[in-house]
Amino acid sequence: MTPKENLSCVLTFVIVGGSIAGLSTAYFMTQSGHKVIILEKQDKQYFLTQKSTGLRISPNLTLLLHEIPGMDGLLSKKGIPSTGFALHQGETFELIGQMIYSKNIISDLGSIGYRISYIDIWRHLYNLCASHSIEIMFGFEVDQVVCGVDSIDQTKVLSTLKQEIDCDMVIAADGHNSFAHRIILSESDDDVSIEDDVEISHFPELDNWNTCRLSIPTKVMQEDPDFSILLQSPWWMTWMCNGCAYAGGLEGIDQYGLNIYYAKKGHSTSCNVGWDLQKCKPMSVEEINSIKREPCLQKLLKLANFCSSTSQNPIKFSSYTDVTNHLVLVGDAAHAALVNGFYNTSLAVEDAFVLGSLFSKIKSARQIPHILTGYNDLRKKRAKMIRNVELGVMNMWTLAPGPQRDARNQALSQTLCVDDHVDDVVLAQLWHDHISTCSYNAKDAVEEWWHNWGTFM
Ligand SMILES: Cc1cc2nc3c(=O)[nH]c(=O)nc-3n(C[C@H](O)[C@H](O)[C@H](O)COP(=O)(O)OP(=O)(O)OC[C@H]3O[C@@H](n4cnc5c(N)ncnc54)[C@H](O)[C@@H]3O)c2cc1C
Repeated sequence: MTPKENLSCVLTFVIVGGSIAGLSTAYFMTQSGHKVIILEKQDKQYFLTQKSTGLRISPNLTLLLHEIPGMDGLLSKKGIPSTGFALHQGETFELIGQMIYSKNIISDLGSIGYRISYIDIWRHLYNLCASHSIEIMFGFEVDQVVCGVDSIDQTKVLSTLKQEIDCDMVIAADGHNSFAHRIILSESDDDVSIEDDVEISHFPELDNWNTCRLSIPTKVMQEDPDFSILLQSPWWMTWMCNGCAYAGGLEGIDQYGLNIYYAKKGHSTSCNVGWDLQKCKPMSVEEINSIKREPCLQKLLKLANFCSSTSQNPIKFSSYTDVTNHLVLVGDAAHAALVNGFYNTSLAVEDAFVLGSLFSKIKSARQIPHILTGYNDLRKKRAKMIRNVELGVMNMWTLAPGPQRDARNQALSQTLCVDDHVDDVVLAQLWHDHISTCSYNAKDAVEEWWHNWGTFM
């Protein structure tokens, strides 16, 4: 995005949440010529000392990150390039298939992907915002917003400690439990969780899944012969079990990250929703018991120094904005996406870029509703596509023994051919969804929307 200097309509945005979506939206909004203040409920130390696992940078996100100064360098210095996926039968550890990022596949994907620790990306974005004089207020927990009636009216943000800040618009980048949800939900008479234009997914919906994330120190794994071998693997490993799957890989030099996805069985007491690491709880005994068929997983659970389970509680908003157009959702606050999914960070940075690009075109505050229509159109479609792809993958990874699982394993086994000649049809089927989600280009999407609808502003 080329920085704008003489924007005729400069707006003041308050961004609630100073994580990936908040910081990247702040950067792109500033590049568009607007003023930004970030309000983050945690203090800075919370981020610098957090012990979570790592972020997955999908190939399309690698490309988008070219738009953020210094990200290429950060990925090549600190990121672990993804070489592909090794797919194992969870119960036996047998290698069933592999999806290698070969030259041809990388060319179709447009780039490679990476894994990188959360804090490396956070620190980079934070420093970038600070160097652009973006004000970040830590320890400011937003509780309420009083929205102006008309798009040119001011809006007021209130903290839990009754501090007040005025602005033109509020961007809620405050994750799964966004304060803005109750405002948007209270405005609708209908069941807003039902999108108006949803394609019905063929797979069990998001709220059928729980996820648990573990972080295991590589030092501890090295001491265990069963696991030390995992540390030598450049792969993102997946173990596919009946009703449950776990996927892991190195996420920095000293941590191995593991995500467990498991079908919900009744009410889950230990789960929290979102990424508030102070509220993280380990899996409950019942949950561990429900997936304990996998002895290897049991052992890994014991080695973890960080373990938290997360319940899916997705709200599929029919609009990411409130009725007054003073409030807009980005990142995890906006999307009903699989927690610990492959594309969450990608969705967050794409939101930031799309919103920033659209607002770079504004000439008067009266155009805000139109700009937000563009944002809603573009982002809802994209989020839905990703959700359906991720549910398809979950379904495929967690098949019960039977004819479907046999067919899956039979197709995957062809990727293990020793002579490197894998049937093109099999390859096309395996990679189809990943390539189609990764071929999304946020820049082109904005330009196309603008070309079609921009003249109506
Ligand atoms: C500390 C931390 C560590 C993470 N580690 C990982 C990881 O290892 N792997 C992974 O896949 N994902 C991780 N995530 C989640 C990941 O960042 C998101 O899934 C994705 O990048 C989208 O980010 P987001 O900014 O929309 O949401 P989030 O990253 O969840 O950020 C929301 C932010 O809003 C702040 N906030 C919430 N409510 C308020 C309020 N009322 N007022 C002010 N601020 C508020 C939160 O403190 C948080 O900083 C982590 C998130 C956090 C916050």
